[in-house]
Amino acid sequence: MPKPKSSGYGNEMKQESGATTPRRGKAGAALDARAATRLRVLNCIRNTGEASRTDIAAALRLSPATVTFVTSGLMAGGLIEEVAQDPPDNARRGRPRVALRVARGRFHVAGIKVARQSMSVLILDFDGTQVVEKEVPLAEARMSAEGLVAAIADGVKVACTGLPGGIDSLAGVSIGLAGQIDADARFVHWSSSLTERNADLAPLLSRALPCPAFVENDANLVAKAEHLFGEARGLTNFLVVTVEYGVGLGIILDGQIFRGERGCGAEFGHTKVVLDGASCQCGQRGCLEAYVGSYALLREAHDAHVVTTPTAIDDLMTAAAGGDARAQETLDQSGQIFGMGLSNLINLFDPERIILAGANYRFDHLYTEEVMARIGRGVVNVDAPLPDIRVHQWGNIMWAKGAAAVGIEQVSALKVKEMANAGA
Ligand SMILES: [Zn+2]
Repeated sequence: MPKPKSSGYGNEMKQESGATTPRRGKAGAALDARAATRLRVLNCIRNTGEASRTDIAAALRLSPATVTFVTSGLMAGGLIEEVAQDPPDNARRGRPRVALRVARGRFHVAGIKVARQSMSVLILDFDGTQVVEKEVPLAEARMSAEGLVAAIADGVKVACTGLPGGIDSLAGVSIGLAGQIDADARFVHWSSSLTERNADLAPLLSRALPCPAFVENDANLVAKAEHLFGEARGLTNFLVVTVEYGVGLGIILDGQIFRGERGCGAEFGHTKVVLDGASCQCGQRGCLEAYVGSYALLREAHDAHVVTTPTAIDDLMTAAAGGDARAQETLDQSGQIFGMGLSNLINLFDPERIILAGANYRFDHLYTEEVMARIGRGVVNVDAPLPDIRVHQWGNIMWAKGAAAVGIEQVSALKVKEMANAGA
């Protein structure tokens, strides 16, 4: 299936920065500028929690008249609301102080992480407050595009059951999938959740859901969540390596997710580490993931005739701890290949920090002194200290939280654009 040219609902934030804004006439440029200012004001209010118009003008270096105009538009659109603040004792006279905050109870955004056996659905109010958290089982780990979209729509409906306003109060659904994904086009080149390649999810999602839907590589969502809520707050250049069934990478450069031109970048798990080596779930050979992903470790253990056939990484670790040399060798090989891969990442990106993340994986064998030594030997500049490398394990629900955070950004951008197009 050829990839469509039009982008649909993808990466609205990119346009806000002007980086990919197509050439437009003067009227169009004015609309874009107005939407961009609205988005800046909305984000300022969101980041502050509550902000007065004076605070916003000072923070964004806008005139009071501009702030008044922009905030009245955002209020009319239902995106923000006024809240009375207690005046300080020495300022009881005069007009009561009024602050602005992101409107509550009107728009909701769903974040979804599709895993192999289940799907985590998180619904946030537009101000970021968590409203619903639901784990929905999946009938199969790999489905057709139609089947996956139907399962997502069903999961969203179930999660919305107790929501005032039901599914119609959703302003957006943000979906995290493993694989090579062009977020802009909502086009999946390949995913371990799909039985088919080159799936155009855009028309399927438009038919199945009553609101805009966004699709993103799940490692990017973890990187986003680490940036907003986790171990990477305040950092601008960092990497998140996700290790589970497969191995993913989220790259944040200058504070932004790096996606590559076609959404096919950051495939750390499919970088080649052994010439014509072990076969990978992507169909190629010698990929890092084919030595580190949980499926690969269990396969290695099976091929190496580990005494008790393990069915989970925990079993393999227990066998190694119990003196099974083959189990230990399997884990050691995985750690050494992983360390080699991390040193390559450091040579390429020179990040401030690398976060190893995964919900259902044990990192014991990937975070040892031997692995750190391997990384040190592989990094070109051995005189400088290695970047900070740390493990941050969290559940699927945190991946869904990252998805919802991206969804709120995308919905915000869409809403201000709609206002501009409506002439508001
Ligand atoms: Zn591969």
